[in-house]
Amino acid sequence: MTISEFDIIERFFKRRTAVRDDVVLGIGDDAALLRVPADRQLVVAMDTLLAGRHFPPQTSAFDIGWKALAVNLSDLAAMGADPAWATLSLTLPSADEVWLEGFAKGLFQLAERYPVELVGGDTTRGPLSVTVQLHGFVEPGKALRRNTARAGQKLFVTGTLGDAACALQALQAGDKPDPDLLLRLNRPEPRVDFGLALAGTGASVIDISDGLLADLGHVLDASQCGATLWIDQLPCSPAFQSIAGHDALTYQLYGGDDYELCFSVDADQVERLTRHAQQQQLPVTAIGVVESQTGIQCVHDDDRLYTPQGTGFDHFRDTTDG
Ligand code: ADP
Ligand code: MG
Repeated sequence: MTISEFDIIERFFKRRTAVRDDVVLGIGDDAALLRVPADRQLVVAMDTLLAGRHFPPQTSAFDIGWKALAVNLSDLAAMGADPAWATLSLTLPSADEVWLEGFAKGLFQLAERYPVELVGGDTTRGPLSVTVQLHGFVEPGKALRRNTARAGQKLFVTGTLGDAACALQALQAGDKPDPDLLLRLNRPEPRVDFGLALAGTGASVIDISDGLLADLGHVLDASQCGATLWIDQLPCSPAFQSIAGHDALTYQLYGGDDYELCFSVDADQVERLTRHAQQQQLPVTAIGVVESQTGIQCVHDDDRLYTPQGTGFDHFRDTTDG
């Protein structure tokens, strides 16, 4: 039995109970009606996940649903925004009810945390592709930008780096990845609460999706400065430390899918932010300093220079390792 597009929406995406009182009209009409707070700016992000490109083919439906929202939450976190509403454009090869059930579970489990309400979307048939658009709010003047890094500021990163890339490498080699590392690849934890703590501090922020060097490079380009990166200080998870071996630095500098926040901030903000991070049980590590001279200089703890090779993940270039 195949189910209709209407049934898919009714059964898997339309919730019976209201999640947010700023949704005047959700799924079911030609478009959604949403109440935008008068004293906030609307923040909008959109990310697409393609099978085989943004997740390995064997990824579960639950994890695809989770990740499709998580990557957008990570973008909003990097803007210091409070997430509110999502729309979903779903292209499916077939109406597989078991797959749809798992996908909706993963998506809604993460959505209910904030809460984010799914207010509309589009459903079509074709090769598997998932696009989520996420809307959120920020107080005027408090959004976090990439262009506010200043020489002398310390650089920080949340969480740990390289875990997802290490798991992906194992999958691609036909090995069984460590379960903790695989979870980091399939169910990224967007740093929304920490993004909200950063909002209004003037910090320069980016979420790391394409590798630390590439994404830090975007911040530095936008801010017209450079950085010294302390490569022996890059934070590792225990699982990563025991598995990554001599490839550790490659995963940490170039690996994609970290979804951690990289930021630079004035010294007078650091104590309050550190307290916040501790309350959220989120490690925050100093990994370098912003310099007036452009370019990224990677140095070891004993001051030896390290010359990085390669780039982050770029969909229109083939010299990638992501
Ligand atoms: P129309 O043909 O008028 O565009 P649709 O059948 O595409 O209507 O959509 C009907 C309703 O279902 C709309 O409110 C739309 O936003 C919603 N919708 C469609 N697909 C999805 C989806 N994948 N997730 C959430 N809402 C959806
Ligand atoms: Mg439509």
